[in-house]
Formats: sequence, C-alpha cells, structure tokens
Amino acid sequence: MSANISLPEEFIKLMEASVGKEASDLFVGQYNDAAGGVTSVRSNPKKGGDTLLLENDELFGGPLRRVAWCSNGHYLAQRPLFTLDPLFHAGAYYVQEASSMFSEVAMKAIMEDAAWDEDKLRVLDLCAAPGGKSTHILSLLGENSLLVSNEVIKSRSVVLADNIAKWGSHNVVVSNNDPRDFKSLSEYFNIIFVDAPCSGEGMFRKEPETVNEWSMANVELCAARQRRILQDIWPSLAPGGYLVYSTCTFNHFENDGNLEFLINEMGAEPVDVAGFAGNSEYGNILKTSHGGFQFVPGMVEGEGQFFAIVKKSTLCGEKSRFRIPGMKPSGNLLKKFPYLPLQEYDFELKGDMVKAYPKGLANEIRFLETKLKIVSSGVAAAIQKGRDFIPHADLALSEAFSEMISQGKLPEGINAVEVSRDDALKFLAKEPLVLPGAPSGYILLIYKGVGLGFVKNLGNRTNNLLPMARRIRMSIAK
Ligand code: SAM
Repeated sequence: MSANISLPEEFIKLMEASVGKEASDLFVGQYNDAAGGVTSVRSNPKKGGDTLLLENDELFGGPLRRVAWCSNGHYLAQRPLFTLDPLFHAGAYYVQEASSMFSEVAMKAIMEDAAWDEDKLRVLDLCAAPGGKSTHILSLLGENSLLVSNEVIKSRSVVLADNIAKWGSHNVVVSNNDPRDFKSLSEYFNIIFVDAPCSGEGMFRKEPETVNEWSMANVELCAARQRRILQDIWPSLAPGGYLVYSTCTFNHFENDGNLEFLINEMGAEPVDVAGFAGNSEYGNILKTSHGGFQFVPGMVEGEGQFFAIVKKSTLCGEKSRFRIPGMKPSGNLLKKFPYLPLQEYDFELKGDMVKAYPKGLANEIRFLETKLKIVSSGVAAAIQKGRDFIPHADLALSEAFSEMISQGKLPEGINAVEVSRDDALKFLAKEPLVLPGAPSGYILLIYKGVGLGFVKNLGNRTNNLLPMARRIRMSIAK
C-alpha cells in the first residue's frame, strides 16, 4: 500500500533536528512503501494468554511473531476482521500498535529502580482512552494494586470503560476528569502514566491522511498543552514516585522539550532503562539527549513512539503521606448474592446495580468515588429486580469469572454452555439463540474457554443479556 501523501518540508527539517538525519532519512525513505504498518495484538494473560492465541493463529492468517519488548505482544501475519472474532469481544486480546506496548519495559524499569514489591501500588493512567496502556498496565499490576484509568473527553471515557470491562480486571476505577481535578489527590499515586495528546507524527504511516493536519503551529500548541497537563498532575505523584511521559510523535518540542521541563522546572530525575537503547534484540531504539527513548519506524518494527521515565525526589519523605480515611463496610444486604465468592468481594447496591469490589481495595475505591467523576469501578455484577439478581454482562467478562471457568469452579447455580463460533456471533449480534438440552434460567456462554456473556434460557428460545451498545452491527454471515 502506498500513502501517496508527501511529507511537508518543514516536518522533515524538524524531524532531522529531533532524531538526527540518518533516522529521519530512513523514515522518509520508506514512509511511502510501508504505509499501513504491521498489525499487532497483545494477549490477555487472564484469558488464555499467549497459548490461546498461538493455538488459534489461523484466525490471524498464520504464525504469530513476538514483539521483542512485550512478552504478550504479537505481530499478525494478516489483519483479520476483528469484529467477526468472538475472542476479540471477550477481551482475550487487545489490538495495539507494537511500539506503544512499551509499558512493560517502563514498569519493569520502575520496579527495579524502586525495589518495590509489586503489590499495593496506586497507579494513574491520566490520558487513557481507548485503553491500550491501561489494559496493558492492568496485566502488569499485582492483585492488590489499583489503577485509576482516566479520560477527559466524556464520549471517549465511555469507550475506555467498555474496553476495560472487556479486559475483565476488577482493580480499576475509570474516571472522566480534567488533569486539574486531581489536585484533591495530592501525592497520592506511586506511578503516573501521561500518554499525552500529541501531533501524531509517529502514526503518519498508519494514518497517512493525518499528514495534512500537520503544522508547526499545531506542534507548538500540543507542546504547550502537554506541559500544562504535566504541571497539573505532578503534585499528585507521591515523593519517590515515577512518571512515564509518552507521545507518538518525533519532534523535540513535544518530547525532549517537555522532558527537559520536567527535569529543570519540576525537579524530576530521569530514570534509565538499562540496555534498551542502541542496537539490540529490540532493533535500534534511540536515546534522546535528556534520557528519553525514541522509536523510529524502519529502525524498530513498529510506529513512531517516544517515552521517558522520571522520578520525583524523596526529599519530602520516603513514602506517600496520603491516608485513606476509614469507610463504613457495606451492609449485609447482599449476603445471598450467588454469583461471586462472598469472602473475596465487598458488594454494594447502587440504585439497582450490584457492584463488586475486591475486598482489599473496596475502601480505596469508595474513597476515590468521593474524589473523582466515576465512569465505572470494580465489577458491575448484577441488576437487582425484586428479589432476583440478573447477572450483568460485565460479570461474564470479569477476570474473576475467567479464573473460575479455567479452574472449572463456577459458583453453584451458574450453568455454562460452550458455544460454537456461529452461536457466539449470533449472541454478539443479538440474534435469537437456541441451546438444546441446556437447563432453563441464566446461562453463561463460553467461547474457547473464555466467558462471553449471559442469556436466560426459556427452553425454545433465549433472552439475550448482551447490552445493545455492544452488539455487532455488521452482517455476521460468512
Ligand atoms: N493511552 C491511550 C491508549 O494507549 O489507548 C491513548 C491516549 S491518546 C494518545 C491521548 C488521550 O488524551 C486522548 O484520549 C485524548 O482524548 C486525551 N486528551 C486530550 N486532551 C487532553 C487534555 N487536555 N488533558 C488530558 N487528556 C487529554
């Protein structure tokens, strides 16, 4: 595929000044031939992981190849029609550009530098929609750590919450706040990811039409906005905490310029990732003058990406001084809730919605609910209707369920049926489904060992409990 959109002279000059002439020439030289780039996905370790993908590689046109810097990342032989793969809807993998799978490298470097054990961390992904970094971070965090996945644009925060629900993690709060709103969470987070809105030069090969939107004025505007975001969120980082700043662009105004600002104006200390830059198994990743890492297409197998890790000095104390006020435990209203192990979750009724919070994080999540504009938190487990509980679609997708499915330990009273691809697609299109021989009542549908959703079996037909907004709208006929 050829892009056939020429790169502006001013862009090329700025790229040369930012990444050097050699890297710039390489990018410009192959930009037109490599338009579209390679498609990659990251498997969900809680839902079959790499094994499930590798066993089903025919879905992706043949053998998968590992992304060198991400243990669950894979390049696909061909881009399939993801909409027609039930595993995609079940959250068994996330379609993510390879270079932006750097979160694992950043998290490992932080854990090594800080010598933290991986549990009990508070992590913020500030610019999180549609959820690539957040779902990745959730796969890297321990059970007792909590992620706040935030997106300032409301419509995008809804998409984010949906992608997080499909991924299935329960140690996460999705919020819809401006970076300024985090002032009330001063020194609260151990790690903050700022995957900033940027001029997107690194995605020119994948989205050639965006070249026409490039201008020097927009680069300057993006750089100033990123600086404001960094300034607003810096006070929320605990002393001794780490901030990962990233963009998918090349120019030094948005990348090293803002890294320099963090170092010189905010007192941040750059953190290295040993052995990551230079010629290596990863390709050739450039180290920028202030200690950031630059991915240049042609030098790595991926699109353009910049990231840097900085640390906040511990001069104000070794640890976050933030204290979570005690909260009242939830009432025993839901003592008979049949769908999740009561000893592991705290349940709460919000309107008619039953929310489940992992016990060790329930207090913290409730506290955050008082501070942020919440889009979703914990697991939406069921809807109460009179004395009945209707299982929520998100429960089927939750990691609590995927674990119980893989161990064959579903709670008593939950009946499950493994469905074919055709039936899975019918369910996802909200078409009528018949499950001969299945018991009546609520049935969990499982596809290739992964929870897909619930139906209520009425014998000769089923009521489909998939939310209307999640249904496949295209024709599912092969
Ligand atoms: N981290 C995401 C992922 O991996 O899927 C991609 C994030 S995208 C590069 C940047 C995000 O920043 C967008 O979702 C955008 O809506 C959001 N954004 C735009 N303006 C912002 C602002 N002023 N403050 C914070 N976030 C902003």
